[in-house]
Amino acid sequence: MRIVVLAGGVGGARFVRGLREAVQRWHPDSSIDVIVNTGDDWWLAGLRITPDLDSMLYTLSGQNDEVRGWGRVGESERVSAELQAYGVTPDWFTLGDLDLGTHIARSAWLRAGLTPSDVVARLQERWDLGGVRLHPSTDQEIDTHVWVASDTGAEEDLHFQEWWTRYRAQVPALRFEQRGVSSASPSPGALAALAAADVVLVAPSNPVVSIGTILGIPGMREAVLAAGSLSATGRAPIVGVSPIIAGAAVRGMADACLTTIGVETDAGAVARHYGPRAGVGSSAGGLLDAWLVDEVDEPLVAGLRADGFAAAAVPLWMRDLDTAAALAEAALATASAASAG
Ligand code: GDP
Ligand code: CA
Repeated sequence: MRIVVLAGGVGGARFVRGLREAVQRWHPDSSIDVIVNTGDDWWLAGLRITPDLDSMLYTLSGQNDEVRGWGRVGESERVSAELQAYGVTPDWFTLGDLDLGTHIARSAWLRAGLTPSDVVARLQERWDLGGVRLHPSTDQEIDTHVWVASDTGAEEDLHFQEWWTRYRAQVPALRFEQRGVSSASPSPGALAALAAADVVLVAPSNPVVSIGTILGIPGMREAVLAAGSLSATGRAPIVGVSPIIAGAAVRGMADACLTTIGVETDAGAVARHYGPRAGVGSSAGGLLDAWLVDEVDEPLVAGLRADGFAAAAVPLWMRDLDTAAALAEAALATASAASAG
């Protein structure tokens, strides 16, 4: 079974680590390709920083700082202190010394002419990801900007990282802008993986600034809907996992992003935002065959089924490797039920 996952950073990485465990335990002949959000990426101090790809890389290679939740384990911040003293980097964005090594390597390779896909492949030569292959969603730069109201009432834009990290998403966002997205296209690795897919999983990642950004790349949505065109069955079921449990984001600030695009922070509302692939009437033309909600959101299941989702309620909290693997296994079981039915 060829499994393709659409994912953001921290939530996506926890899910993919669980999926890798489920594959190793129960589906040893399966492969995992992950299409990772690049909308958080930015240039800082002359370096290209790719937070979601790095969260994935560090988590899957066992280098992640599990206490803090992001960055490298055993990290120090001596270089960052120097950069901040020079005023080259802001005091609200600290880069670890080991992490800076990754950014310097990446930036050197980009300057030498490698594409972001080449860079990701090269980073994976060093780290053992247990067979998981990572692909940037696109090789073009599509940094996210956030439009907010300034003190004078005029609109101004912040880089996503400033809004997210400095202001903790507490400044109301008027809208998000993926700068450069109209001339972007899906990465070659993403397209090849989707064409060969037997199943597509949408990780419990931020529906707006992680999954929304991936799907907003011209041609990506079409490629996801056509996933499996080169597989044995010719059509891969698409199964999503809710990042929202009992009306709240499990971790992080996804609620602020959902509010900005006018979607309620609710597992059912997020499903309807993605839309059912087999929906009827105005809900037709969506993305998902199936949607998993948490057991506490079980009352939503009947309504979701009526709207065309093969919905099910399962434990969605990824507390440890076992619970994350069980969640991934539930998503795979839902996918095979969706393709059978
Ligand atoms: P980011 O790029 O680092 O912000 O991470 P993602 O976009 O991949 O994921 C963020 C989302 O993961 C948040 O909206 C959380 O609600 C969700 N999330 C984090 N941990 C869990 C969990 O244990 N279970 C579920 N269902 N969602 C989670
Ligand atoms: Ca992210």
